[in-house]
Amino acid sequence: MRILIVEDEKKMAGFLDRGLRAEGYAVDIAYDGEKGWEYAVTNEYDVLILDWMLPRMSGVDLCKKIRNEGRQVPILILTARDTVEDKIQGLDVGADDYLTKPFSFDELLARLRALLRRPHRLKDKTVLECGTMTMDLIKRRVVVEGEEIALSQKEFSLLEYLLRHEGEVVSRTAIAEHVWDLHFDPMSNTIDVYINFLRKKFGEKNIDFRIETVRGTGYRLVSEK
Ligand code: CA
Repeated sequence: MRILIVEDEKKMAGFLDRGLRAEGYAVDIAYDGEKGWEYAVTNEYDVLILDWMLPRMSGVDLCKKIRNEGRQVPILILTARDTVEDKIQGLDVGADDYLTKPFSFDELLARLRALLRRPHRLKDKTVLECGTMTMDLIKRRVVVEGEEIALSQKEFSLLEYLLRHEGEVVSRTAIAEHVWDLHFDPMSNTIDVYINFLRKKFGEKNIDFRIETVRGTGYRLVSEK
């Protein structure tokens, strides 16, 4: 899951960046509204977190502009404003949710999870399956034949991306864009290393699915059924 944060307060941006990375999200940061717009239209994000008061273009104007372009990406607006009219204005321009500063990081995470499981994103699914493997997106657990497989945040995100595209070849670039972030070099061997971590974790189990390498392109998760 890749998130764009548009926030001009460096301290707040850094706090969000560290916290969300620790949860396994890929994170990009823009420090003003114009840059945020540039990032939002050139990259594919799963959620945008926009601060309300931003230099060059406000979070509300940025939100409006994104919606006017017909983009459906979930948007959460952050702000110190907390009057009812402000909330209505934020939601009226197409934000999906609204969080008032100061907020608890756990609340932000819960709201992000709620946005990520909106029907237009997940087709209502909170559990993904492939063969005997199930991934519970709410509890963040992966189970194979009743046994939980412990995965790091990055392994979980990578597997989630493969599961969402089960049976399709996913390119290294697509994986890099959704699981890592802007500064990630898709030519490095990091993706292969993580694919091997996953294969090893499932290796000793009697499984009916596998991650295939598609030479020169990327990977494909397939079930044997
Ligand atoms: Ca601000």
